[in-house]
This record gives sequence, C-alpha cells and structure tokens, in this order.
Amino acid sequence: MTIYFDNSATTPVDPRVYEAMIPYFKDKYANPSSIHKLGRIIKEDINSARARIASLINADEDEIIFTGSGSESDNLAIKGIAFARKHKGNHIITSSIEHKAVLQTCKWLENYGFEVTYLPVDKDGLVNVDELRSHIKSTTILISIMLANNEIGTLQPISEITELVKNKNIVVHTDAVQAAGKMTIDVAELGVDLLTFSGHKIYAPKGIGVLYISDFLKDEIIPLIHGGGHEFGLRAGTENVPYIIGLATACDIIGEELNTEMQRIKEIRDKFESLILRNISDTYVNGYNAPRICNISNIAFKYIEGEALMVYASDICCSAGSACTSDEGPSHVLKAMNIDPIDIHGSLRFSFGRFNKIEEVGRAVEIIKESVSKLREFSPLYNKE
Ligand SMILES: *Cc1c(COP(=O)(O)O)cnc(C)c1O
Repeated sequence: MTIYFDNSATTPVDPRVYEAMIPYFKDKYANPSSIHKLGRIIKEDINSARARIASLINADEDEIIFTGSGSESDNLAIKGIAFARKHKGNHIITSSIEHKAVLQTCKWLENYGFEVTYLPVDKDGLVNVDELRSHIKSTTILISIMLANNEIGTLQPISEITELVKNKNIVVHTDAVQAAGKMTIDVAELGVDLLTFSGHKIYAPKGIGVLYISDFLKDEIIPLIHGGGHEFGLRAGTENVPYIIGLATACDIIGEELNTEMQRIKEIRDKFESLILRNISDTYVNGYNAPRICNISNIAFKYIEGEALMVYASDICCSAGSACTSDEGPSHVLKAMNIDPIDIHGSLRFSFGRFNKIEEVGRAVEIIKESVSKLREFSPLYNKE
C-alpha cells in the first residue's frame, strides 16, 4: 500500500547488510582493542572494512574515520579544522543551503571568534565560483560546501572550487551524505581534503558515519571526543563493530551496482517528473536546470500547502522541505533560491531508492493528482477558471 519515496530522509537496511552484521552481535563480539586472538580477528575485520570503504571513494584505508553519524562527521571536519588552524586565521566559507549539521556548526563557531561567509545560491541552487573567489582572504582557513543538496539534489562544482584554492593552504570539506551511492565519488578527482557520508542514507544502519580525512591533516585535526586512542586518536570509544561491517557491506554493494542503479533510479525519477508536469497543472521542479543527483525530485505544487498534500496523499511517504527542518518553518534551501514564498509552502521532496519500482510511479502520481485537485478546490489562492 505505502509507497516510500523518502529515501533521502533515510533508507531501510539492505538484507545483505543485515546478514553481514549478525555474526558481530553474536560470536564475533570481542573488543578489537583486546590483544587476545578473538580481539585481533575483529581488529583485522575492521581494517578490511576500512579498506573496502576507502576503495569506494578512491582513498587510502587509514584516511577513513568512523563516527556516530553524518552530523558528527560534519562537526569533526569543521570544528576540528577551525580550532586546529585558528592561529592562521578565523574565516570560514560555506553556503546558505548546507545541511543543518554544517550550518549550525558554523553558527556555533561564530560564538568563538570565527567569521563565517554563507554564500548565496542562484535560482537553481548553485553557488557561483567567482563569487566564492571574491570572498577568499588571507584569514580564510576552511571551505565547506556540500556535494549534493539534500532537498533539491543539485550538485555543487566542488572540483572547480578545489582547483581555485589549490596551493592557498585552505582546507576544503564536502558533505557528500546525499551524493554517496548516487554517483561516483573520487576524493582525488574532487580534490577535497575532508568528505562526510553516512550509513543510513546508503542502506546501512542509522548511527554510523564516515569522515574521510586526507592523510596530511590527520595529525592536525582536533578531535571532538577524547579518550582511548581509537580511530587514530581522532574519535575515542570502542568501535561499533557490527555497524562498521554493515557500512563496508553497503559500500561493496554500491561498488557493484552503482552504474545500473543510477540508470534505473534516474528512469524512475524522470518518469515521475514527466507524469507530474504533464498531468498536474501549475507545478514545476525546483532546481530543474542545475546538474542533479539521480534520485531527488523537489516539486512545487502552486496554491496548496505541501503538508496538507502529505496528509491527503498519506499512502505516499515524502518530505516537506527536509525531514530535519520540517518543524522549523519553510525550507532555508528554497528560500535561498529565492523561490516565491507561496510556492515554497507548496513544495515537496520525493526521493527514490533501491527498493522502489518504476511501477509505483503511475499510482503515486494518480494519488497526488487527486489530492492536489481536492486541495485546490478549497484553496483561496487558486483561481478556478
Ligand atoms: C542526512 C544528512 C546529514 C546528517 O546525517 P546523519 O547521519 O543523519 O547525522 C548530513 N548532511 C546531509 C546532506 C544529509 O542529507
């Protein structure tokens, strides 16, 4: 009955990931820091998981740090560099459409003497590289710009940005939580020094994240969590072994299936968008003209409230704005894109994933179409002629 088009909020754990984790809850429970035989076996399994994850993004295995979430990875990247480099400068550049894990971290740093530039975006949600260049100054120590946006899916020109700051001694971080599993990610090609992704957006469990830390920064970045020397001294706490194994399995699956899955999911998205635009009047796709990842459609339904549409079309799981901001008022992303405030209220994000089938699209659009016309009947904004 229910159609789950909310894969950018979270994904179910893939059964293959689940299977791979089970032994680590039961027989393979030893502490990887223990020097007995059982412990050493687990340690080796963690190291091989690190290597499997690293290979997905073309990193070295000891450049992969496990954290408790994508949010934690963003925090570690930004705070870790800010405090490590504050003797060099206090200026950070980010964008106005970042995930709250980046935005709120930057806001918080302003209380500690850091100065943050929040770059605007154009009407398709893209930052302008020339504009970014004009904000760089001698005190700039860090740039944090997301790879793919979580509400509209637009892709930022990260390699252009890293090219621009080459040899300027500015660290570049990118939040790739939404990009992971939906496009090829190569840290060398991107040229980034730090990159975040998260388990639960790629069919691994909630509560595990990764921070890629380029080798040259590992002795410099300041940890958030002190204690034992876990994760190269960068994140203390006994490793979450089952989830680490689960995440590595999720990355293996992506490595094997990415190309065919990207194509299949893009077909689902394209069919969805064309049916919506063709069958429901006064609709458009936010960010349509920008390069986008394959799985997000953010649709503006004019003259209605997105939340009301979610109530009417309750068989379809989607998001108003983003799951993380829906109780905080209208989307900061669509606002930054200068979308008409009325259209922002009528915008919903549909995000497709591994367990969706193209057959679901027709029925979903039918349900949405009926709900939209009902809501518009009651809408004082809608001209019925
Ligand atoms: C979901 C998400 C996060 C946060 O990841 P968690 O693991 O849920 O903390 C960060 N950035 C983006 C772009 C996201 O979509």
